[in-house]
Parts: sequence; structure tokens; C-alpha cells
Amino acid sequence: MKRTTKLLVFLFLMIISISCTSEKEKEEQKNANEFNNSMEQTIKENGKPLKELETKICSTCRGTGKIICKKCNGTGSVRKEVLGTPTDEIITCPNCDGYGFFVCDKCGGTGTVKE
Ligand SMILES: [Zn+2]
Ligand SMILES: [Zn+2]
Repeated sequence: MKRTTKLLVFLFLMIISISCTSEKEKEEQKNANEFNNSMEQTIKENGKPLKELETKICSTCRGTGKIICKKCNGTGSVRKEVLGTPTDEIITCPNCDGYGFFVCDKCGGTGTVKE
């Protein structure tokens, strides 16, 4: 009888220790998983490919790469003004130096921008 009790106590202790161990293991497993998850997240955040730049039509020049001179409307020449009054004399546009347009600053004349 005494022996049986001892055995039972022993078994009881065994069960407790096993359950304790498994609880502990579970906890460790959980922590490990959380660690892995956070690691994965870190890797995803840091290792994600840089957002690929999209080539878009330049909104400033609408893809032409040029900004038409507003003063001469792209003709490169204007009527000479005397005291604010246009005369019949045609001169080279002083605004664009006769080019009639400016190279677009935003896209550098390519007509496309990478955003
Ligand atoms: Zn442009
Ligand atoms: Zn001009």
C-alpha cells in the first residue's frame, strides 16, 4: 500500500514536471515563433524591392520636353514693342532668344519623368 502511494506520488510529480516542461517548451516555441515572425517582418520591410519608378509623361511639358515660350507662342519672334505698343517690326523674341521654347526643367527635355 505504501509503495503504491509512493508510486502514485512519483507519477504525479512526473506528470507535473512533464506538463511544466511542455508549458515551458510551448512558451519557448511561441517566443521563437514571435521572434521568427518579427525577423521575417524586418526582412520583408528591409528586403522588399525598392518601389520601381514608373516612367510617366511629364506633366509640365505634357511629354514634349519643351515649354513653349509664352511671349512669342513658340514662333521665336515677336513684334517690337515701343512703350508697350507693338510695332510692325519683328524682332527675335527676347524671352526665348528666338528658340520659341525652353527645355523643360522637370524632365530635362526627355518628356518623361520617373516617379
Ligand atoms: Zn517636361
Ligand atoms: Zn519666345
